[in-house]
Amino acid sequence: MSALDATHAPGTRSWVESANAPDTDFPVQNLPFGRFRHDLTEPWRIGVAIGDRVLDLHATGLVDHNDMHRLMAEPVPRRRALRLALWEGLREGSALQGVWTQALLRRTEVELGLPCEIGDYTDFYTGIHHATTVGKLLRPDNPLLPNYKWLPIGYHGRASSIGASGQQFHRPRGQTLKPGATVPDFGPSARLDYELELGAWIGTGNAQGTPVSMADAENAIFGVTLLNDWSARDVQTWEYQPLGPFLAKSFATTVSPWLVTLEALAPFRTAFVRNAADPQPLPYLDSEANRLQGALNIQLEVWLQTPAMREAGSTGVRLSQSNMRDAYWTLAQLVAHHTVNGCNLRAGDLLGTGTLSGPAPEQGGSLLELTQGGKRPLPLPNGETRTFLQDGDAVILRAACEAPQARRIGFGECRGTVLAARDL
Ligand code: CA
Repeated sequence: MSALDATHAPGTRSWVESANAPDTDFPVQNLPFGRFRHDLTEPWRIGVAIGDRVLDLHATGLVDHNDMHRLMAEPVPRRRALRLALWEGLREGSALQGVWTQALLRRTEVELGLPCEIGDYTDFYTGIHHATTVGKLLRPDNPLLPNYKWLPIGYHGRASSIGASGQQFHRPRGQTLKPGATVPDFGPSARLDYELELGAWIGTGNAQGTPVSMADAENAIFGVTLLNDWSARDVQTWEYQPLGPFLAKSFATTVSPWLVTLEALAPFRTAFVRNAADPQPLPYLDSEANRLQGALNIQLEVWLQTPAMREAGSTGVRLSQSNMRDAYWTLAQLVAHHTVNGCNLRAGDLLGTGTLSGPAPEQGGSLLELTQGGKRPLPLPNGETRTFLQDGDAVILRAACEAPQARRIGFGECRGTVLAARDL
């Protein structure tokens, strides 16, 4: 577990003035890592977000490469030392201001990419409120299957179609089975949805055959981003049995560009509490540290910007709010469970949390929940309605952490836009 140190002191200001704005996602207490480039001809470079600027990490002299996997795989003490050096250089009064000013770029001047090349992608299902609501649509009397409270449910997803915020993708086509029909239709998905998730990015991998214990599980994670698991519900309903999601999910997934490190999240740890009436985690999924502060207090939001809103100059409407601390399993438990059979994780692997819905009906992290399976259209303030996403809709995920005696930090945005199905 990450301990608090000087880098978390809420009163510290930066000589980068925009990093001192109360509502910035990137004060000097955050210091997330991402990859940027000036244009398509340039290789990706490692950057650090500070206010509305990007610090070129290589240009600071703190590292001699631009290999994000190498940075992510550094042992925890080295990661902490780098964070401290960045904080020392960027805080108000730093002697490095004159030199590091040369390493600063405006965020609007550069393209932000995926934080790193992604090896394997696994998506979990830790949002118990999501699992219960969706389960009720299928099985009103028995929404949660018996395994749900014993192990973190997951499936192996598709890494090749994951894109950084700003991703645009064509509405997928596929097979769907209309109610009452016995033969499937083929065409563009009519029930395209988003899923509000976080992604945990592996830094330190494990050797095949060597499970990661709960004691070491968090050290394996380098950082966290937002993740939108776009889902074609009609395709999913027809294809998912017996082997789980396939083409309903693999056409696109969008992530935010900045890896918010576990070190930056240290002030926002909270107890992991398992209801006494529920099965307690098996020993390989349990630790005292996990019980004391295994959960994360991360506030989450989903915004929708329809084409009509965009034309009217509106940035969109907030559809829901929820919090990562309501997840049924912690990030450490995901790593311990994923590796317990000997499966090896590698730097750059991505673990999705599953849809993070809150306990209240209006806290659903997908349209499937907010519209009760498409039965209750969602009214929007401009008079439009949505059951599922329409062409041109942009979905924006946001996240921020707030706690007493801590500086607010944010994740930046995770934006993706649905384009019309491509002509065949
Ligand atoms: Ca998902």
